[in-house]
Parts: sequence; structure tokens; C-alpha cells
Amino acid sequence: MIQSFYNSVLEQIDDTAERISLDSGIHKMIRKPERELTVTIPIEKDNGEIEVFTGYRVQHSSARGPCKGGIRYHPDTNIDEVKALATLMSLKCAVSNLPYGGAKGGVTCSPSKLSKKELQRITKRYAAMILPIIGPRADIPAPDINTNAETMGWIMDAVSMYKGSTVLDIVTGKPLELGGSLGRREATGRGVMINTIEILKKLNINPKKTSIAIQGFGNVGSIAAELLEDIGCKICAISDVSTGLYNSNGLDIPNILLYINSESRPPLLKEYNLKKDDEFISNKELLEGDVDVLIPSALENQIHIENADNIKAKIIVEGANGPVSKKADEILAEKEVKIIPDILANSGGVVVSYFEWVQSIQSFFWDINEVNENLKKIMLKSFAEVWYISKKERITLREAAYRLAIKKIACAVQLRGIFP
Ligand code: NAD
Repeated sequence: MIQSFYNSVLEQIDDTAERISLDSGIHKMIRKPERELTVTIPIEKDNGEIEVFTGYRVQHSSARGPCKGGIRYHPDTNIDEVKALATLMSLKCAVSNLPYGGAKGGVTCSPSKLSKKELQRITKRYAAMILPIIGPRADIPAPDINTNAETMGWIMDAVSMYKGSTVLDIVTGKPLELGGSLGRREATGRGVMINTIEILKKLNINPKKTSIAIQGFGNVGSIAAELLEDIGCKICAISDVSTGLYNSNGLDIPNILLYINSESRPPLLKEYNLKKDDEFISNKELLEGDVDVLIPSALENQIHIENADNIKAKIIVEGANGPVSKKADEILAEKEVKIIPDILANSGGVVVSYFEWVQSIQSFFWDINEVNENLKKIMLKSFAEVWYISKKERITLREAAYRLAIKKIACAVQLRGIFP
């Protein structure tokens, strides 16, 4: 049976706790979120009917600072998924040494079936309902699947209306015109690119001779594709929820980006006009394709016990959160597949979110070079630390990243002492 996402995360924490002989009390703390909130979101639809949605906000740990994490809109979003994602956020912020704990939010809904006005009403009501637990020094949301800068602008507005004045530092990933940071939209994909290039360097592989498949062509996947192609990698396969595209000589990424960015709601790849030698493939074919690097950048649990053995890529860079289940991770480790784990690979977004928060607090904004240089510095440092632990202890990069993160969180808990 395919393991649940939350179980995968907890099992990885348990394994790491045992191997580093973590204090059993702190282990119990790290296994459980500090706070879980479920909210009901009634909205009036465009046709005048009332529809009721469910939303969540989970704060996993505030040991190292205010909680930080995105908000996801998806029909399958549920409390366990949000708990898993919040836990990963605490670990991710610790790996990058950001002064944050982890949180995550979500609303169970199908954005493609809702109008923009309906999405705005859901967002503002959701923001009002979670307002008692979020705040610039408590918990700062950001975008995730099916949410974007516009969604963050709506949240910022709802919170500001309650507070009676504009609160810029309540969310990150905002539009530039509303105190967003240059480089935030591209940050997660840029971080994925930096990590990919670093591992190719370590393994003495020439990026110009590297073939790549990317699952998910949204914020993370499309920008990773663009930046990796710029460096000379061959992007042979991409996909979205509707289909996959394949070209063994490399897809025309700039042209596909033109198509995707042509409308405010990105069109589906299945309606893309194929160029010479392009073909449609399934997501299964994409995942199991013969490429050097696979970058899953869609949803969790895409590589699991039933397909792990079929994976041919020798390097996996986890653009998505939790795309490889714990059992699949073990199978891939035996096959000596190198995996850059989510809590390192896709941390670029939260790093630049941190920069945005700092800029919003100071009302002083950086230029793009400052953002990208500082991002690169932090990503390279985190990569080097995880790589060093992995080599020294002869463990996988995921195990090394978990060790680094859990030790930092445990240290913060111990230094603070248990309240009261
Ligand atoms: P997005 O909504 O912009 O894009 C998601 C993409 O995945 C879309 O192309 C969608 O069509 C595709 N997709 C959805 N279901 C699919 C399926 N079953 N098979 C194949 N493709 C599918 O979301 P995003 O912000 O790019 O996030 C993608 C992943 O990256 C998520 O796991 C998210 O948690 C993680 N992540 C995002 C950020 C960020 O800054 N946006 C940061 C860190 C991690």
C-alpha cells in the first residue's frame, strides 16, 4: 500500500531521532504540531448561492522563531497533508538557518472551478478566520500550490482592514507594488537550479550534457526549467496536471513559457501546439523516463513503493514537498540514486520570503542583485553543510539534512527550556 505523506515525514523523523539518540521528550515534541486550526469558510458564489469550504492553518514549531509557511488551494488538501507540510517547513527553515519555525495552510477547493471573485472571497474569509493565530511576529503565510502574489495581496488587504492600517509584513510573496521582493517569484526555481548545478559539479557531470525531466510546470517547475536551460541543460520532458511533453533533443522552453504566460490563468499543456519532434507523454512516462536528472515539482507522493524501482534518473532534485515516499526513498538509496531532499532543494522560496519579510519590516527594498546574491550564498552554504554531513557520516543527503535540522530545533528547545 502507498504510504501517506504524513507517515513518511514522521518515519523519517523517527529514524533520524534514533540515529542521533535524540532526547525522547524532544522527539515527542518534534513529532507533533504546536497548534492546528480548522476553519469553515462560507462564501457567496457568483450565482448567489452559498458554498461552504474548509480551511486549515497548522503551526508545527515556533522554537526557532515565528512560524512560516505557504497556503495551498487544492481539492485533496486535508489536515494530515497540512501537518506534514508544516513539519517540513520547520525542518527547511532550520537547514537554511533562518530565524523561523514552520507552518502551513490550505483550503480544500478546486480553483479551476472557481471565478477570480470567488477565489478572492474565499481568501479574504480564510484570512479573517485564521487571523487570531497569524501575525508578523507569530506566523507569516506565503504562496504554494494554486496561490500566488495576487492571493497574498488579498490576505494582506483583509488583515490590514481588521488592523486599521496597512500591514506589509503579514505575508510574503506579495506583488511588488504591495511591498513584495524582487526575485521572490523566481526564488524556489532558482534554488532548485542552484542545487542541481551543485550536485552535478560534485559528481563531475557537465550540465551541458545533462538531460532533465521536470514534473509540474507551475511556479517551481517552470522557472527551474527556464534557468536550467539557460545554463545549457537539455530539458527533455515537462508535465502539468493535464499531460507531459517530451523531446529527446530538448523542448523549446522559451516558447512553452510564452504559451503558459500568455493568460492570467496558465493554460494547460495538453492544448500546446507541438513543435517538430515533440510528443505527448503521460506523467508516468515522465517519471520513469531515461534522463540524468528528475525534478518532481508538482505534488507529494509521486514516487512511491510501486514505481520507485522503475525510476531511471540517477539524480532527483525535489522541487515539490514530499514527492518521494519514505519507502521509495529506501529503494532509491539502494539503487544509489542521489536525492537532494525537499527541505534543501526547494528552500529558495522561504529564503527570499525571509528577505521580503526583512524588507517589509524595514520599508527598505533591495535590488535584484542583492536578493539573488544573498540567496545563492545561503543555498550554497546549506548545500555544503548537508553534503559534508552526508559524506562524513556515510548517509543519504536526506538523512544528513534531517540530522542538521532536528539538531538545530532540539538545541533551540533546550536553550529556551520547557514552558512553564
Ligand atoms: P503551482 O500551483 O504553481 O504549480 C503546480 C504544477 O503542478 C502545475 O503545473 C500543475 O498543473 C502541476 N500538477 C498538479 N497536479 C499534478 C499531477 N497530478 N501530475 C503532474 N502535475 C501536476 O505550484 P508550485 O508553487 O509550483 O508548487 C509545486 C510544489 O513545490 C509543491 O509541492 C509546493 O509545496 C512546492 N513548493 C513551492 C514553493 C513556492 O515558492 N511556490 C516553495 C517550496 C516548495
